[in-house]
Amino acid sequence: MNQRLNQLRKLMEQAKMDGVLVTGLTAIRYYSGFTSDEAALVITDKTAALITDFRYTIQAWEQSPDFQVVEWGKVSLLAQADKLFAADGCKRVGFENESMTVATFEKLKSFSYEWVPFSEELSKPRLIKTAEEIACLQRAQNMADEGFKTLLTRIGSGMTEKEVAAELDYIHAKIGSECPSFDTIVGSGPNGAMCHAVPGERRLQKGDLVVLDFGCVYNGYHSDMTRTFAVGEVDDFSKRIYDIVRTAQQKALDALKAGITGKELDAIARDYIASKGYGECFGHSLGHGFGLLIHESPFASTKSQWTLEPGMTITVEPGIYIEGKLGVRIEDCCVVTEEGYIDLVGSTKELLSVD
Ligand code: ZN
Ligand code: ZN
Repeated sequence: MNQRLNQLRKLMEQAKMDGVLVTGLTAIRYYSGFTSDEAALVITDKTAALITDFRYTIQAWEQSPDFQVVEWGKVSLLAQADKLFAADGCKRVGFENESMTVATFEKLKSFSYEWVPFSEELSKPRLIKTAEEIACLQRAQNMADEGFKTLLTRIGSGMTEKEVAAELDYIHAKIGSECPSFDTIVGSGPNGAMCHAVPGERRLQKGDLVVLDFGCVYNGYHSDMTRTFAVGEVDDFSKRIYDIVRTAQQKALDALKAGITGKELDAIARDYIASKGYGECFGHSLGHGFGLLIHESPFASTKSQWTLEPGMTITVEPGIYIEGKLGVRIEDCCVVTEEGYIDLVGSTKELLSVD
């Protein structure tokens, strides 16, 4: 954590700031290691304090040894932060403008500092993952792969989408995932056309394609993958759509390496899908970064200005969605390298089938 603190102090210096108030859970975790809410970090030249309340002080000592743990009891959390900034003579202080509520900001304005929006700077160091972070992401993804493999032996026609999601979440919890990366998406048959289908009462039927999008969490790090599988035998049309998506994904993966922009990467998959006549059926972005959050920078989309660098994460997830009929999406989560990428996902992309 010390290294991250040093990095943050450098960013503060560059922005000519005397302090930073960190209030978002993700940034608090990244810089201090502390994992609960009801906390804030006060960082100045001299001070690295974690403010929390009585319920969390023991946890704070254990998780954040580089920080002075300050309990806010009689005064509010923000009043306690004010005291610490004042004691160090701060004038310009950064705050998390992208995640703070208007109500909290109104309170901040009553303190006598120049408040400087600092969310973007704060999240910058998180863009490039360290070897340790990549190891956490890989462990999360390994659990996701293992759970998917087990799931396919336990499900089949007649089961509802809800039951499939519950079964997968249960398997993942049993093998050590802290929680699902996000609400597991199960879209069977025509429901697959809804990219973010909420699992419902529809029962899997022979001839369905099923879109399953899910992830595991290890040490706070989120994995993300999608596989589309068949129930029994599917028709030739379903197979053709599947092959188009699979080829589109492979083409994007083949081009993935440091130096490519998010826009260029997106266009490779998008242009291929369009060339097959399904351009209108791929309505979302190709991919996103992932880490302590399931969706974080960089992004690969038609508008993306990002240039990918070694150590960045990116998903590659093209899809085709045809209303009333079916959906297909295939997603791998990857780490960008100088020469290409590390695909964290081990599951096959052959069209698998359950009975
Ligand atoms: Zn996903
Ligand atoms: Zn994704």
